Amino acid sequence: MRILITGGAGFIGSHLCRRLILEGHKVVCLDNLITGSKNNIGGLLKHKDFTFIKHDVSKHINVKGRIDFILHFASPASPVDYLNFPIQTLKVGSLGTHNCLGLARKKKAKFLIASTSEIYGDPLEHPQKEEYWGNVNPIGPRGVYDEAKRFAEAITLAYHRVHKIDTKIVRIFNTYGPAMRKNDGRAIPNFISQALADKPLTIYGGGKQTRSFCYIDDLVKGILRLMNSKINIPVNLGNAKEITLIDLAKKIIALTQSKSKVVFELLPVDDPKKRRPDISRARKLLRWQPKVELEQGLKNTIAYFKAAR
Ligand code: UDP
Repeated sequence: MRILITGGAGFIGSHLCRRLILEGHKVVCLDNLITGSKNNIGGLLKHKDFTFIKHDVSKHINVKGRIDFILHFASPASPVDYLNFPIQTLKVGSLGTHNCLGLARKKKAKFLIASTSEIYGDPLEHPQKEEYWGNVNPIGPRGVYDEAKRFAEAITLAYHRVHKIDTKIVRIFNTYGPAMRKNDGRAIPNFISQALADKPLTIYGGGKQTRSFCYIDDLVKGILRLMNSKINIPVNLGNAKEITLIDLAKKIIALTQSKSKVVFELLPVDDPKKRRPDISRARKLLRWQPKVELEQGLKNTIAYFKAAR
C-alpha cells in the first residue's frame, strides 16, 4: 500500500512509519514539526519508499499520486503541549481531521484516526469501556484536546455513514517508549530525565492518581491489526495494568539507580483521578493484548533517554 501518515515525525507516528516501511509499504509522512522532530525519522529520510512533506494538515492537503490508507496521528498529545498550543490542537483535531477525510474520499483511501482515552475525561466508570460516553469539561484547559478528539470521532463516523469511507477509530491510552521527547511534560519522560539527572521527581497532587502504561511496540501491533480489520467502531488500545503515579516514580528511581527523591507539586486542572482501559473489544475482535511488562518497557525507554542525553 501507499500510506499517508500525518504526525509521522511524532512519537507514535515515527514508530508507525518505520514499521510500515519494514513491512514493504510506501509511506508519505506529513508533519509540521511543532511537536514532532526530524530526528525521529532520521533513518528513513533516504529510504526510497519514504517521503517527508513538511505541512500543517489543518490547511488543505495536496498529495500527488495514489493513497490507499490515511493514518491521522497529527496532534500535540501531552497535556503540556496542548496547553502550549491550544488553538493548533483544536484545529488539527477538527479542521485537520476534516481535511484528511476529504483526502480519503478523493483518493478512495481507508482512514484511521488516533483518538484518545481523554475522550472519557475524568471517568466516572472504571475501567473505561468503549460504550462509556465520558465526563469531559469542555471549557477547561484539557478541553481543547478532549473536545477536538471527540469532534474528530464524530466527523469520522459521519464520513463513514454518508460517504461510505472505511474508517477506523483507535482510542489510545497512555503509551510510552523510545522517541518520546525528553521535555514533552508527560510523567514517564519527566521522571526518567529527572532520575537520570539525580533531580527530584515531580509528582503532581498526592501521587495516588492512576494510569495504565502501554509500551509502544504493543500499541503499534494493535494499530496494525485494526488497520487490517473490518472494524469501524472505536477500539481501546492500552495496557490494562494500572499503577499509581507514586509507585511509578519509585519504580523509575529503582531502575535508574538514582539518588533522586520525590517532590509533590500542584495537580493540574481536570487531571483524571484514574484511568484503565477495558480492552475486551480489542482482545475479542483483534486478538490483541499487550505483552511487554512495565519493567522491561521502562528499561528500554531509560536506555533510549541515556543515549539521547
Ligand atoms: N504527572 C506527575 N508528574 C509529572 C508529570 C505528570 O505526577 O512530572 C502526573 C499527571 O498529573 C497525571 C499523570 O502523571 O496524573 C499522567 O500524566 P501525563 O502527563 O503523563 O499524561 P495524562 O495521562 O495526564 O494525559
